[in-house]
Amino acid sequence: MTKHIFVTGGVVSSLGKGITAASLAMLLKHRGYRVAIQKLDPYINVDPGTMSPYQHGEVYVTDDGAETDLDLGHYERFAELSCGKSSNYTTGRIYSNVIARERRGGYLGGTVQVIPHITDEIKTAVRSLAADDVDIAITEVGGTAGDIESLPFLEACRQFKQEAGRGNAIFIHLTLVPYIKAAGELKTKPSQQSVGILRNIGITPDILVCRSEMPMQKEHLDKLALFCNVATDMVIEEQDVKHTIFEVPLELAKQQFDTKVLEMLQLPPRTLDIEQWRKMVERILHPAGEVTVAVVGKYISLKDAYKSIYEALNHAGTANNVKVNVRMIEAEELESGSDELLKGVNAVLVPGGFGDRGVPGKIRAITYARTHGLPFFGICLGMQCMVIEFARNVANLAGANSTEFDPDTPFPVIDLMEEQRNVADKGGTMRLGAYPCALVPKSRAARAYNKPNVSERHRHRYEFNNFYREQLEQCGLKISGTSPDGKLVEIVELPDRDFFAACQFHPEFKSRPMEAHPLFRDFVAAAIKQKVKK
Ligand code: GLN
Repeated sequence: MTKHIFVTGGVVSSLGKGITAASLAMLLKHRGYRVAIQKLDPYINVDPGTMSPYQHGEVYVTDDGAETDLDLGHYERFAELSCGKSSNYTTGRIYSNVIARERRGGYLGGTVQVIPHITDEIKTAVRSLAADDVDIAITEVGGTAGDIESLPFLEACRQFKQEAGRGNAIFIHLTLVPYIKAAGELKTKPSQQSVGILRNIGITPDILVCRSEMPMQKEHLDKLALFCNVATDMVIEEQDVKHTIFEVPLELAKQQFDTKVLEMLQLPPRTLDIEQWRKMVERILHPAGEVTVAVVGKYISLKDAYKSIYEALNHAGTANNVKVNVRMIEAEELESGSDELLKGVNAVLVPGGFGDRGVPGKIRAITYARTHGLPFFGICLGMQCMVIEFARNVANLAGANSTEFDPDTPFPVIDLMEEQRNVADKGGTMRLGAYPCALVPKSRAARAYNKPNVSERHRHRYEFNNFYREQLEQCGLKISGTSPDGKLVEIVELPDRDFFAACQFHPEFKSRPMEAHPLFRDFVAAAIKQKVKK
């Protein structure tokens, strides 16, 4: 039988609930339990796919093509779990299911209400994680206790625990214990009040996890236990880690967080095997050198907008035993004509994106990398920009562009596929999720992956235009990966360069801390070589 853990948050948002839930999943997995995990998001968008990264950070894409919250990236990276459509539910998705059923006459003339209909639908979403091969299901509830939006989710989780019975479902509440400088003290009151809000709606947390900047004393833990009605040993301290978020599970394990959770769920502790993880953290803490990679994008000011890219660069750094310093460059700032911002970097990466803002700056960065012998890695829109740059400046197709940015371009080297052009609803035309890619033997890409066929995740509408394939190939652009039928271009590269490559898919979603993505790994290796040569 699957046991359930609900993770809620209080006091403020951005406490790191996702990382705490992911760390717990990782620890339980390394104790031999089969874990599944999901996030409930209180906003009304049906999925985050239509939201700007400025609103909610990056949109994380799963193998099954779900456009999801970036916390799923933490789950997959920490616990190597495979997430999918049942790993992320929003208020919008829950309501649209209920409303669709109501329209079909599914409620037999009854009045459709938040309780029980919406809460039942939420419980169904939680239950969708339960399976014969899942021992423990973790449900992270987005938002902060006290928000109007998250109330139906919390109410549904309360009912769920009640129905599951003792030992089958527990609540973990994450709160903030702020340090007040003027008083020189840590304050427990906000946590007490946040637990008070939960108690008002019938939820008593079983375990309290307290985020703080400063070490907590026994008196703080005792006070929290007393006022929050939690056993003293069930108050866990989660202090800010110094170097890498991958220290979080190690710190939590030191306080037996995972065994306390198992105790509450009436499950045996089993042995914890996290030696590999420990070694990985050690490598991160003691790199042999460093390199600087320019990431040229248009959502640079928000650090969560390219979360998985930064993570994948770090994984690649760990694999190569270097620290990767990212120089975040706002693409538009390169449009003034000066390359000053790019000076001194060891490699250039252009990530994905939508819309034309910043595209000229991205193309300029690619020209700079090509003409200054720097390794380059383009991802999705970054690949489209590499093709445009090559077409304009090497193949002499002046004005070459993607029809996304210039519908009247004389050389539409990136274009919609015929069948997409005729669909009015753009939402339905994205290529989403995992697709196979066949690699061209001996290419840079094939050497990186060291296998002939791979599967990678997509999220785009436009494609390389095959009309220009031969012409660009004759000018020296190598196509090193395609769909198995050869029709869709997936990877392009400049064969005479150590690493000057770009892919139509998003490899960053599949990179893991202990297993860097091969393309990122070789890109960073090329950046190291560039630095040594210099
Ligand atoms: N805007 C481009 C497209 O739709 C690239 C998308 C992306 O980078 N994810 O094809």
